[in-house]
Order: sequence, then C-alpha cells, then structure tokens
Amino acid sequence: MNEELLGKYKLVVGMEVHVQPKTETKMFCGCDANIWGAEPNTHTCPTCLGLPGALPVPNLDGVKKAQLLGLALNCTLNNDSRFDRKHYFYPDLPKGYQISQYKQPLCENGSLSLESGNTADIERVHLEEDVAKSFHEGGKTLVDFNKSGLPLIEVVTRPCFRSIEDAVDYCKKLQVICRYLGISEADMEKGQMRLEANISLRTGEMEEKDELSPYKVEVKNINSFKYMEKAVRAEIVRQREILEKGEMPKQENRGYDEFKNITVAQRDKEEASDYRYFPEPDIPPMVFDEKYFNELRAVEGSLPQSLRDVMEKKGVAKEQSRILVEVMGAAVVEKFHKLIEGGLDAVKAATVLINRKDLFELNVEEILNKIKGEGEKVSDTGEIRKVVENVMEKNQAAVTDFKNGKESALQFLLGNVMREMKGKADASVAIETIKELLKK
Ligand SMILES: [Zn+2]
Repeated sequence: MNEELLGKYKLVVGMEVHVQPKTETKMFCGCDANIWGAEPNTHTCPTCLGLPGALPVPNLDGVKKAQLLGLALNCTLNNDSRFDRKHYFYPDLPKGYQISQYKQPLCENGSLSLESGNTADIERVHLEEDVAKSFHEGGKTLVDFNKSGLPLIEVVTRPCFRSIEDAVDYCKKLQVICRYLGISEADMEKGQMRLEANISLRTGEMEEKDELSPYKVEVKNINSFKYMEKAVRAEIVRQREILEKGEMPKQENRGYDEFKNITVAQRDKEEASDYRYFPEPDIPPMVFDEKYFNELRAVEGSLPQSLRDVMEKKGVAKEQSRILVEVMGAAVVEKFHKLIEGGLDAVKAATVLINRKDLFELNVEEILNKIKGEGEKVSDTGEIRKVVENVMEKNQAAVTDFKNGKESALQFLLGNVMREMKGKADASVAIETIKELLKK
C-alpha cells in the first residue's frame, strides 16, 4: 500500500458491485434481456415500463445465478427470501420504486480469500432490477427503457479492505467467479459489471481500536479496474487534504472523472430510511429447501479456487495457478489438464502455457509433439561438466573403484548425474564427460 499517499492516515474501503446475470429474459417480465446494440425502447412491455397495474413475475434463472454467486462467496443461502420496494424518484424510474431486496436477501455473510492472504468480508448478495437510462440532448432528456428491468445481482462487502490492491483483487476475483460459473460475462465495457467504492480515511489509533470514520464517500459507476485504482487514489488525496485542515469530509456520492483524474460531487448519500423500503406486495415470499441448495452446490468444483487447489496439489506454484486460472481463463485451464493427460508433468505444463509464447497458439497435440521433439535434453557440455565434477567429488569411492577396473562405477556416476539434472542431461555427453574426467 502506498504510505506516501496516505501520510498518517489509514484507508478503509467497502465495495458494492453490481453484476448483470446472463438470463434470456428480464427480471420481472418476458422481454428479451439481450439488449446490446438494440434500438432504444424496443425491449419493453407494461411491466418494465412501470405502467400501473402491470404485475412482476420473478425470473428464476436470475434468482439461481444470484444464489450461485452467493455460494461461490461462501455465503449462507437463506431458505426464506423476499423482494422489497425501494422508493426514490428519478426520471429513469417512472414507477417511483425499484424492486430490490432489503431485510431478507438471497445470501448473507460470506467471505473470499485474497491473494495478499487477507479476506474480503461479504455482507450480502441480493437481486434487484436495473433502471432505465436517460440521455440529455439539446436541452431535452430522453429515456431508453431497454435496460429497465434487467436483472442485477448486488454484492456488498463490509468496510473490510485496507489497501487499494486488496479491493481491486477482490473485484477481479469476483469477475473471474462470474465467468467460471456462467453467471455473467461481467464485461465492464457493456455495463455487465459496475463498481462502487465506499472510501474513508482514519487514524492509526482508530484502526487499532477498530473504529470507523463518521463519514464515507461513495464513488459510483466505476467501469474498469484501472479507473477504480485511480478513483480511490484521487479520493485519498482529496480526503487527506480536508482532514489535514482539521475538517471532516462530507458524506456524499461522487463520480470519477477519468479525464481530470478527480472525483466530483453528485448528490448527498441517502440513509436507508430515506428509501422507505417495504415488502413487494405483488411477489410472494420465496422459500428454498436444502435439496435445491445441494443441487446448486454441484458447481463448487468449477470454482476458480477449487481449480487452483487441484493445480497446486500437483506442484504448480501459487502465482502460476493464479495466472492460469484467474488471468488466462477456462480454455487455458482445460489445455493444462489435456497436456497432463498427454504425459506432461504439471509444473512443466504450467510453465509451457505461461512462459512459452511460441507454443501458445498451438493445439494440445502440437504442443506435446513440440516438447517431445525438443526432448527436453540439456546438452550444454559446460553445464553437464559442472554437475559431473560435483558428483565425482561427492563419490570419491566410485571414482577409485573405476580406476581399479570396476566398470559398473561409471553407470553409478552417470545415474547420479542424471538424478542431479532431473533426467534432462544428454546421456552421451554425460558419459563422455565422465570418462574424460576419470582419465585425469
Ligand atoms: Zn418488459
């Protein structure tokens, strides 16, 4: 973490991430959810336009995908869950409320292990509907309802991050999980994953006492990991300046201006009570049983961490398993396992996929043939000579035996050389070298 940036202060970050699950239809109506590139207002119906009297019917695939994400984040899946109305007025929300979840979300109290060894502390995973999109053109405001009513999974953490690196790592891991479990492509450019960071600073003394600052600033609608890092940095600088003047930053929502690399004030942050939540009367409460939850648990083997555990048990280093699973992705993981089936050892397979750019585009069979062709042999006489000298020094008795006419001592020395070099030495070069050195 950047000490210089923080001065005497400590960083506290909590994340709210929205993921749009990939479903055929919208969250509460039958409209086609694939709106990417569509003409404005072509994917609409009375329900997602918010017309009076239209009844919402929950999309079970959306529910299931939110639960899968909760499962992947080690959450408790609630047997009883329900939707609530969250009231606020906005031109892109004509019915005056958003259907969301408040008191009984689908999933609660989870965790996710981070690369640093720290843990992200998940408060809840709930489902809600997206709102429409407004455009401001020539002094007029236009609204496109295609996005209105799309499902959104919201994942909320507690204020658990102490560094920008941990917060970014968490978001990246969340994206990877969504992709491996088929929940969402989580393509940030398409708005399928949106980040909001709650940021505050506190003193070291407060950190020791586990005391939070009396304010937090929510930076909204961050649409790339890079911008997230920059937005948090910009916010640290801004808040620190205020604190150093002896003042307290205002609790508010801010947006990140990527061109100026600063955050700018939006509206004041609402308290939960401002939304006047109450249970959605048009949707009955949902009840799930253990049998259903157990069926969901079948995906646990496809979790990125499970895939990494399998690799690490085969001897692959932690950083390599991270790159293969979390950076390179599912297709490369599959290739990794096929290379092992083809006879390559796991460590070698990992190294080939990560470091051999020349082999990367080839298919499994071609890679295996190339590697076999190379024979993996070391025939550098200098390198072999060094090992032979070392082996002879350690095995003086065998050297004496050979000089006394015991031929088998040569094989014994060769065996030791091959073991030292893990079988990679070119045997004929090794024998010649041993013979040469034995003559001395
Ligand atoms: Zn609709």
